[in-house]
Amino acid sequence: MNVYDSARMADVLAPLGYRPVDQPDDADMVILNTCHIREKATEKVFSELGRLRTLKVQKAARGGRMVLAVAGCVGQAEGAGILARAPYVDLVFGPQTFHRLPELVARAAGGGVLDTEFPAESKFDFLPEEQAGQGLSAFLAVQEGCDKFCTFCVVPYTRGAEFSRPAGAILAEARRLIRGGAREITLLGQNVNAWHGEAAGGGGGSWGLGRLIRALAELEGLLRLRYTTSHPGDMDDELMSAHGEVPQLMPFVHLPVQSGSDRILAAMNRRHRADDYLRRVGRLRRFRADLALSSDFIVGFPGETDADFQELCDFVQAARFDNLGVFTYSDEDTSASYPLDGKVDGRTAQNRNRRLMGIQRRIARARNRGLVGSQVSVLVEGPSAETPLLWEARMATQAPEIDGVTLINDFEGAEPHPGEIRRLRITEAHDYDVVGSLLEPTESAPRFAVPGLIGIAPLAA
Ligand code: SAM
Ligand code: SF4
Repeated sequence: MNVYDSARMADVLAPLGYRPVDQPDDADMVILNTCHIREKATEKVFSELGRLRTLKVQKAARGGRMVLAVAGCVGQAEGAGILARAPYVDLVFGPQTFHRLPELVARAAGGGVLDTEFPAESKFDFLPEEQAGQGLSAFLAVQEGCDKFCTFCVVPYTRGAEFSRPAGAILAEARRLIRGGAREITLLGQNVNAWHGEAAGGGGGSWGLGRLIRALAELEGLLRLRYTTSHPGDMDDELMSAHGEVPQLMPFVHLPVQSGSDRILAAMNRRHRADDYLRRVGRLRRFRADLALSSDFIVGFPGETDADFQELCDFVQAARFDNLGVFTYSDEDTSASYPLDGKVDGRTAQNRNRRLMGIQRRIARARNRGLVGSQVSVLVEGPSAETPLLWEARMATQAPEIDGVTLINDFEGAEPHPGEIRRLRITEAHDYDVVGSLLEPTESAPRFAVPGLIGIAPLAA
């Protein structure tokens, strides 16, 4: 969500003459767009601000000015505390007010400005239609905020109450992203499957996410659709059936469960038990048998005993997730779990994190090895920044925000081009990545060429 918000902040600032740069050293403005979810986020922000202060002082010595801003959820949560502790910061604002940036920047000339309101207006109604392209794979925020109040989570306090954008505005933004080169769109929301927006077409009523996905799938040029992050309780039949009926909707769902122990799930206020989750996944797989599943777990939640942790490990062994985010509980002082007794010491929590990741690594490795020799379809992205001479692509089950890509080390016949869907034979497997050869397009699996996209360089270059 912060990647998306940062792109939209750049859109808001573009008419004022600002453009993004790679290094902060000589920038006229630096915006730290922050996340407050875990791991002492606030302290990290202050230490980063200390570094930026040096750049600001150096720029002032050269006769220039650097506006220093803190945006996002740390800005929202800490507000005036940031201006008091770091008075060299010019501007603090939260996730719901960045549409006001032109006005805030103008006011910042007079010193510390704070805007952490939850405004009555929706920022989306004020963001410019003109958007810089996000490339082949784009994010589109459809829903924000959350009303679920899981006890460990700060989101309902920093992002505010649940809000769904109208379907018409989402479809219009998707069309603009496609015109800008997007072939894959990931719909975003803190609780995206709770999306219930005003229906498109002016006939009144509202749609759920499943209906929105069906409408988006009709847009020409859009090859892949995804959504993240979902809550198990909001997985309705219309959305589940879309997985069986909409070919553009990728067979991948990130569906966090957070614990495998019912006792801990209750303390987390997750509103479901571990077996409810498995039943929901079972139903989803009736619509799409090859669905890949990813999840998040928190280890070391207050009161988590060795027995609870063992239940969690057994759950992960049984569910065999395709991908896992394992987080050590972070004791945020604004969360409802902060006053709970039974805090787990840091070492035990770290050990549990390592053990769980070890279990998952073995599952992922075995799954990837099982893929060697098989053919899959991939979206070709371009030359790999990390592995010279190879190209990167992603299978349907490799979402852009998770670890793991497909590396192309060879191709038969037709050269690859960014943005096309091609068949690939997997030849090698690693813990998270797989490697393979692109196959010659055939009549039954034609190369899906995307008009308007230019190839960057041949594979062997
Ligand atoms: N809405 C999603 C859901 O219902 O699961 C979660 C979104 S949260 C922004 C992303 C992930 O951060 C969560 O799934 C959780 O595992 C992790 N997380 C949130 N608060 C945390 C905390 N206090 N300590 C550790 N991990 C946390
Ligand atoms: Fe946080 Fe997700 Fe729970 Fe909402 S549903 S409170 S975003 S963890």
